[in-house]
Amino acid sequence: MSMKCNCEQYLNLELRTVMYTRSVMIRHVPVFVCDHCLTYELMPSMRPSLKKCVELLGPNPSDTSFSLADFHELARLIYEVMTDADYSEDDFKSKLEYEIQERINLLLDLYKVAESMNDHTWIGEIRHRLSQLSVILPEMNVF
Ligand SMILES: [Zn+2]
Repeated sequence: MSMKCNCEQYLNLELRTVMYTRSVMIRHVPVFVCDHCLTYELMPSMRPSLKKCVELLGPNPSDTSFSLADFHELARLIYEVMTDADYSEDDFKSKLEYEIQERINLLLDLYKVAESMNDHTWIGEIRHRLSQLSVILPEMNVF
């Protein structure tokens, strides 16, 4: 099953540069795009992340353009899969699913290490990265 646009076309997942406000530009934002009527919408789980990233910049940011791939685990994985040398649209979804599962396994391993070291900062960081990946799992079924 795939997600459809209002015009009945299937939506494609793409990375776009998005103007968040008039002054903040965010690169590599995952969006669902309709090739037919050219509308696009943000991947739903990205909404709170964009807001958080912009909040981190503060009220008068010196750098008003950044890549979401540097802040968000899932955006980074999508970016990595799409910029891979043998990227093809056909197996994008299965590849991404595979990479997400691999990354979750890696993070769970790191989590055990962090836990055994009783490193609470690290544990918190890993939890955060895991949560960025797990929100997408229900959404993965729609595209
Ligand atoms: Zn459309």
